[in-house]
Amino acid sequence: MDTLRKLAEQRLRQALDRSRSETDTRDVSYLLHDLRVHQIELEMQNDELRNTQAVLSASRDRFSHLYNFSPVSYCTLDQRGIVIECNLTLCRLLNRERSELIGYPLGRNLPAEDLPILQDMFSQRDPAVENTLRLRSHHEGAPILHVLLKLQRVEKPIEDTGHWRAAISDITSLHQLTEELRIKSAAIENTLEGVLITRVDGTICFVNAAFEKTTGYSLQKVVGKNPNILHSGKHTSSFYQDMWQAITHNGHWRGEIWNRRANGEIYPEWMSISTVFDASKKPAYYVGVFSDITTEENMRQRLHKLAYYDGVTDLPNRHLFMDRLGQAIADARRNHRKLALLFIDLDRFKNINDTLGHSTGDLLLIEVSRRIAANLREVDTVARMGGDEFMILLSNITGDKDSLLIANKLLGAMADPFDLEGRQYHISASIGISHFPADGAEAEDIIRHADIAMYQAKAQGRNTYYRYTGAADEKQTAHLDLENDLRHAVRLNSLDLHYQLQKNLTDGRWSGVEALLRWHHPERGFIPPADFIPIAEETGLIVDIGYWVLRRACKQFLAWQRDGLDVGRISINLSPHQFLQSNLVERMREILDETGMSPHHLGVEITESAAMPNFLYSVRTLEALREMGVAIYIDDFGTGFSSLSHLRRLPIDILKIDRSFVADTPGQSDDVAIVRAIIAMARAMNIEIVAEGIEADEQLEFLRQEGCHAGQGYLLSRPVSAVEVTRLMRELPAEGTSTGASNG
Ligand code: C2E
Ligand code: MG
Ligand code: MG
Repeated sequence: MDTLRKLAEQRLRQALDRSRSETDTRDVSYLLHDLRVHQIELEMQNDELRNTQAVLSASRDRFSHLYNFSPVSYCTLDQRGIVIECNLTLCRLLNRERSELIGYPLGRNLPAEDLPILQDMFSQRDPAVENTLRLRSHHEGAPILHVLLKLQRVEKPIEDTGHWRAAISDITSLHQLTEELRIKSAAIENTLEGVLITRVDGTICFVNAAFEKTTGYSLQKVVGKNPNILHSGKHTSSFYQDMWQAITHNGHWRGEIWNRRANGEIYPEWMSISTVFDASKKPAYYVGVFSDITTEENMRQRLHKLAYYDGVTDLPNRHLFMDRLGQAIADARRNHRKLALLFIDLDRFKNINDTLGHSTGDLLLIEVSRRIAANLREVDTVARMGGDEFMILLSNITGDKDSLLIANKLLGAMADPFDLEGRQYHISASIGISHFPADGAEAEDIIRHADIAMYQAKAQGRNTYYRYTGAADEKQTAHLDLENDLRHAVRLNSLDLHYQLQKNLTDGRWSGVEALLRWHHPERGFIPPADFIPIAEETGLIVDIGYWVLRRACKQFLAWQRDGLDVGRISINLSPHQFLQSNLVERMREILDETGMSPHHLGVEITESAAMPNFLYSVRTLEALREMGVAIYIDDFGTGFSSLSHLRRLPIDILKIDRSFVADTPGQSDDVAIVRAIIAMARAMNIEIVAEGIEADEQLEFLRQEGCHAGQGYLLSRPVSAVEVTRLMRELPAEGTSTGASNG
């Protein structure tokens, strides 16, 4: 403004000078006009200046606003990093007043660990450097901030323009997001489950390490491909259709699927597929997560095998058989077809098992099952029902002819000897046959009838078959029931022992005790040994029962001994079947050792009929037992028509005169003569005598007079419980007095 004024005054002065020299008045008026024009020009310039000034100030305001409210924090730093000026954004970011920032180093807002980063940036030669670092807000408890710091060097700094312009962007949320992503991707990469991600068009865009490991395909190999490269061919197209339908409808699918590895091997996996939607809720990706369940599958198959197949023969077991039978019956009922059941029981298998051992027995069972299977059609089922019992289901037969033909074939198949560990054995089978629907409408009926028929076959001399006839007698069924119940009783350990004391007829003291088996049937009550021992013999159960008796008797004897009671000797009865077990002596020794029983207090009772048929074996076995210290009794002597010369060669300690002879003494002269003869012979052979079945005083008297050593019978004591024996022994009743103890 001053310059303009000066310019105008100068012009005016010039004009005045000129007018002084040029006196022309016209000139003066020109001059005035000129002056006026200049004045106007000057005023116009003044307005422009004012406008420019207004624009400038508006722009400055705008800049200052933008500067202070920019989302990015700005500041200027001097060469030592001290803040010279800053925008409000930085104040807000750090929660400080401007005055708390200006004049202080920027570094004081950094955690100590990040200071070297800042210093490093300052020392760079580059005109522009950037780095991420952390800032601490001045606000108590505020989380640490993650920022991107850009430094721009000022080219030629003068005084207060500073050395660095700094731009600081808050990237905390971005940082968090990145961290989250990093963790999630590490999780996906490290999980044991395979992950497969496809786009909606079905092309694979990602697989994780577990996928690569499980399938054998690398990420590069599968990216862009369709997952159907994994198809195993094990599923029908409807399986995949159902799967996709579920994914489209519910957004996810879960299930077991078989896939193929790169090496061609197929394997089961447990797969779950879910849809990832985009912002507009349209499917964008499908994520499949799966685990290889080969091991579970193997386990499942093993368990299935254990549950449904027999471990020895690999044949279906009872469980699976019942299942198949149920299905076959339902099927046959619908289609009006006939079925046949063949119940096979090996004859005297128990002998082989007991004498040759279980592993040889198993070999035999395997061979038998092989021979059976070789004679059946694919559609038939053969199962091992347990022990030496097999069951065959013939489906869709026309009549009796079919099943009898198969039964014949099977008997034929058993006829050849079995080669077991280099030796040959013969075994036969008894087969019972029943039909559906002729012999029953339900599985249980036809099985029961096949079972009855099988017993019929056994009754007919074994190694044969028997077709169930409705007439199969009740006796057979009763026998069968009893057998089942006995098996049950053995398993449940519900048999019992009673003891019958023997008395020394010379001094009237108790001299021994015989253990006698007792079975109290839960429904039928007391069943005499004469009724169930033959069944136990027939089925071979007697072997286990016999050892149970021995163990129990030993333990009882020791218990009495501990109670200070001297029972002399305890004897047990050995059934012919058990006596023939080749390992009898060892088993007995084991039990004696196990219980701690002295063999000198033990006796075994066998009948003549058990000892005679295998005479040499009997001699050997009895001698071995006697050598151990066990006393040998011949039970029921006189009934077996044994030749005396043979008897002489058996190592016998005691003869028990059968009660049928005692019963009629002293009246019947024949029996008196026999009893006398037996006693005389025994004396000559130095064998003790026990008379059985003494029921009357006269009998006792007669026997004593004849020099009989000892007696056993209801008159002296009935078979009683162990507790009762204890009581009787404590009482030590007078010789020949009836105890009145109740029968067992
Ligand atoms: P046993 O070995 O001859 O046993 C004697 C049998 O005669 C017993 O019958 C006994 O109760 C009975 N008795 C004893 N005194 C008299 C009497 O004065 N009058 C009459 N009428 N009978 C008397 P129980 O207990 O019924 O046993 C019968 C058979 O069963 C036994 O005959 C024996 O052969 C067999 N037995 C019993 N327990 C066992 C056992 O643990 N194993 C084996 N294998 N057989 C056994
Ligand atoms: Mg006996
Ligand atoms: Mg007897």
